Amino acid sequence: MSDWVFGDRENGLSDKDNGLGLKAMDAEQLRENAHKMVDFIADYYKNIETYPVLSQVEPGYLQKLLPDSAPLHPEPLQALLQDVETKILPGVTHWQSPDYFAYFPSNSSVAGFLGEMLSAGINMVGFSWITSPAATELEMIVLDWLANLLNLPHDFLSKGPGGGAIQGTASEAILVVLLAARDKVLREVGKDGLGRLVVYGSDQTHASLQKACQIAGIHAENLRLLKTESCNGYSLSPESLTEAISHDIASGLIPLFFCATVGTTSSTAVDPLLALGKITKKYGIWFHVDAAYAGSACICPEYRHHLNGIEEADSFNMNCHKWFLTNFDCSALWIKDRSALIQSLSTNPEYLKNKVSISILRISIKFSRNLLYVVVHQASQGSTVIDYKDWQIPLGRRFRSLKLWMVLRLYGVENLQSYIRNHIKLAQQFEDFVVQDSRFEVVATRTFSLVCFRFLPANKTEEYVNKVNRDLLDAVNSSGKIFISHTVLSGKYVLRFVVGAPLTEERHIIAAWKLLQEAASSLLEN
Ligand code: PLP
Repeated sequence: MSDWVFGDRENGLSDKDNGLGLKAMDAEQLRENAHKMVDFIADYYKNIETYPVLSQVEPGYLQKLLPDSAPLHPEPLQALLQDVETKILPGVTHWQSPDYFAYFPSNSSVAGFLGEMLSAGINMVGFSWITSPAATELEMIVLDWLANLLNLPHDFLSKGPGGGAIQGTASEAILVVLLAARDKVLREVGKDGLGRLVVYGSDQTHASLQKACQIAGIHAENLRLLKTESCNGYSLSPESLTEAISHDIASGLIPLFFCATVGTTSSTAVDPLLALGKITKKYGIWFHVDAAYAGSACICPEYRHHLNGIEEADSFNMNCHKWFLTNFDCSALWIKDRSALIQSLSTNPEYLKNKVSISILRISIKFSRNLLYVVVHQASQGSTVIDYKDWQIPLGRRFRSLKLWMVLRLYGVENLQSYIRNHIKLAQQFEDFVVQDSRFEVVATRTFSLVCFRFLPANKTEEYVNKVNRDLLDAVNSSGKIFISHTVLSGKYVLRFVVGAPLTEERHIIAAWKLLQEAASSLLEN
């Protein structure tokens, strides 16, 4: 035991005795204080149902509670934890609460937490292989494991010209593949072709595609968010993609990139990958598949068919931090041709050069779009070495594969599959409740664990129905008992109820439905 003054005593984490200045890491100090922190977090989970799920504070509340400047002298950990309890937690929306049914889930788990803890403990910055070989190699291995679990085509495995990388979020995943696709085409048509590049998605595609276009310099008028219909379950029809592409080509534009979705944000619609993918192949368009939420379900054989056609895709992403028990952040991205990504995103400054990662340029000739091109490939000198800095926007990167590895190992595939199945079963139960109450309706087909529904009192105008559903959402969310979110589908204001928090049980579904029914009744009475 060191002679440091520990966090629960008077002077916080300061080195009081030797006068040598701050000794910020000490194994015994870490042990004692980290145990206290783990106790605090375990108690948080034990008591999580006592907090309002959606934070009920007013904007600016914290400014009034905390001092204007940082403390000059160390404070005890105990005082800090008291502040967390009384000042921070009231301003937290409890995403891990079993009564959290909003947006999409963002799972925490014991395994994910331990992985996060280990990653924080080691705290390396693995931007290139040499900066922590285990970080790069474990990432390659676990993403190959997950790719196999999802039955992805072999081209996505790291053993070939493709491979997987963990990005922070799906938004980053979509951005980096869009940049790769853009630069690949601009190498062919010349940089002044940028204004003619066209990107396609559907009106249900996540807004991260729009943001990626903004960053990539795709002109706003060249982003086609093609209309979907409720009669098609809000999935994109291949005909409308073909039509849009043909029209753009006739106008002298260059179709560049198409993003399909498996499990759209509003209603978990699934785009028909095989038919859409064949169209992209025909026109030489980069085909990306975004399965940020629903990808997790595809580890169950009975849901895998939603990925049929994935063999046509150039890239694919799913968020392990959504519904795969891996604490935020961990967004898995796979790509078939990693050289496209590397050519877009690599830099090679002198201060990062090392023996194993010097890039070599390889030149080949390619025939495409009726023209002959010289193509420059980039390959690592050591054939098995990946420098993940060249697959992402930032340089620095965390050891995120540890938590995914721990989730896969500490739970095992069978448990992960039954975890998903249980949520889908609970969602089905909620859907049955909705169907059985004639005052409500299910608004979109349920495919996974999201139920889109609305309160539909008899003989009311569409305007009234939209308003009453807005009021219903406010009423249940401001009760603090549950948290749900909303969307708009075909002009209808729709309530979204997603089952996906790790602590949710049947009793929470039953209580949530009762609360919704009671709140709806009292809105009608008033
Ligand atoms: N794609 C889909 C289908 C989503 O539902 C979401 C978020 O919910 C995203 C992309 C963006 O996810 P992220 O927050 O990881 O960028």
